[in-house]
Amino acid sequence: MKGFRYLDDTAILELSEEKCIGCGNCEQVCPHRIFRVLDGKARIVDRNICMECGACATNCPLDAIYVNPDDGCGCATYIINSWIARFRSKTPSGCG
Ligand code: SF4
Ligand code: SF4
Repeated sequence: MKGFRYLDDTAILELSEEKCIGCGNCEQVCPHRIFRVLDGKARIVDRNICMECGACATNCPLDAIYVNPDDGCGCATYIINSWIARFRSKTPSGCG
């Protein structure tokens, strides 16, 4: 995922440092390594590489992260749908 970027200032990603307990789950699960835990709190290193997959929010035990692909640029949805469309176009008719 290195070097992979999306449109600047389009990702809907919010982090509440007040709620964060620094468990590090977000740092572990994010495919783009967007979070770093420093001094017991998660920080967003680069918001513009977020693809809004939602893994960080799902794995945060304190609901300190908000990300909603429906409100954002929907990059992950766009990429997955493109893969499906490409796969379907290569599948010979009669194969499913
Ligand atoms: S939504 Fe996905 S890409 Fe964005 S910060 Fe969370 S885990 Fe990383
Ligand atoms: S998963 Fe949540 S509580 Fe844990 S470090 Fe990340 S933001 Fe903080």
